[in-house]
Amino acid sequence: MLARRMSLFGSSGTAAARAAANAAADAGMEIVDLTAGEIWSDLAPTIRDGAIEAIQQGLNRYTDTIGLMELREALARKVSVETGQLWRADELAVTNGAKQALFNVAMTLINPGDQVIIPAPYWTTFPAQVQIAGGSPVHIDTRRNGYVPRIDDIQRVITPMTRAIVVNTPANPSGAVYDAETLSGIAQLAMDRDLWIIFDECYGPFTYDGHRHHRVVSLAPEVRARTVIVNAFSKSLALTGWRIGYLAAPKELITAVKAIQSHTTSNPNVVAQHAVLHHLREGDGAFEARLKGQLTAARQAGLTALSELRRVPMPVAQGGFYFYLDLSGLLRPTLANGHARTADDIVAALLAQAGVAGVSGTAFGDPMGLRLSYGIPPEQLEPGLERVVSVLNAWN
Ligand code: PLP
Repeated sequence: MLARRMSLFGSSGTAAARAAANAAADAGMEIVDLTAGEIWSDLAPTIRDGAIEAIQQGLNRYTDTIGLMELREALARKVSVETGQLWRADELAVTNGAKQALFNVAMTLINPGDQVIIPAPYWTTFPAQVQIAGGSPVHIDTRRNGYVPRIDDIQRVITPMTRAIVVNTPANPSGAVYDAETLSGIAQLAMDRDLWIIFDECYGPFTYDGHRHHRVVSLAPEVRARTVIVNAFSKSLALTGWRIGYLAAPKELITAVKAIQSHTTSNPNVVAQHAVLHHLREGDGAFEARLKGQLTAARQAGLTALSELRRVPMPVAQGGFYFYLDLSGLLRPTLANGHARTADDIVAALLAQAGVAGVSGTAFGDPMGLRLSYGIPPEQLEPGLERVVSVLNAWN
């Protein structure tokens, strides 16, 4: 009944984890949901005011396909400040979240048969979109290197069919922040082997403990002509439902993105665009600082709770808002009834025994991982993680 491409991927593993948590809650269990890919927060006042103003003005029509010109100009200024380079509005496109920005990139850059290198564990949508475009994801295992790819390992999988490499820093799910040396190495490879760099910095504002978010175009300006920067306000302003993201790229690519977007979604929601524009003009950084403070405190409280873990190493947690646990010490030798146990078994046990929902690493190409979000209400985090610790410490 369905097109062949639908056999290549299912719906997002993180959405499935959230659905399992909701089903358990509907069945009457008291659940601590640590699956969220979003931050528990209220709305930034500037976003609310900008949206109200747009509604009061009666704005109801299509905008330019790739976003209001004033918004693209404001985004060009933002990217210029962040990268230390001059960007112009014709190098920017506004999208329905980072997810659509990445989808546009997949559709405009990847030919059937092209290979795209995606370090694993990876955010589940990266390989799915490559497959939708007819390409093949090629994964490299980063688990032995603090979840940051080794340049040698990347080099080893490059073939004449390699078209691009996905760089997601800070990384979902691992929380790793790529160091400048690795990014410079990737830039060099991109130059030498004629690759595109798809640079997803959705979690850029959230780094901790002295870790800094580095941008590949700032470290190696020569890769700008082969780099797509993907970003959104979904995480940085706790605005997931409003669906405003963007990409910054050479203008030929932006023109292609405009064509794709014109045949798929027309334009991002007009009210949401005005809200973000108002925020970019009027925001004083206080909301962002509060969000960062909230996450910093949650991370600290969470790490304290997790320090009681006996056979699971402490998570990397350099950036983003996830604790990503390496469960291989609990799972490796275990074969139950001839069935290799994976993080799926532990995730199921956490939900059934402790009422805590997390996301299994199998969703991210890593059967030994467990992702727990700390972007949740603070009063739920510590009790939730304490339950996780007691299940994991008792696991056999
Ligand atoms: N990129 C990464 C690495 C993400 O983790 C997510 C969301 O979880 C996205 C992109 C998508 O963000 P958006 O909600 O803006 O589409």
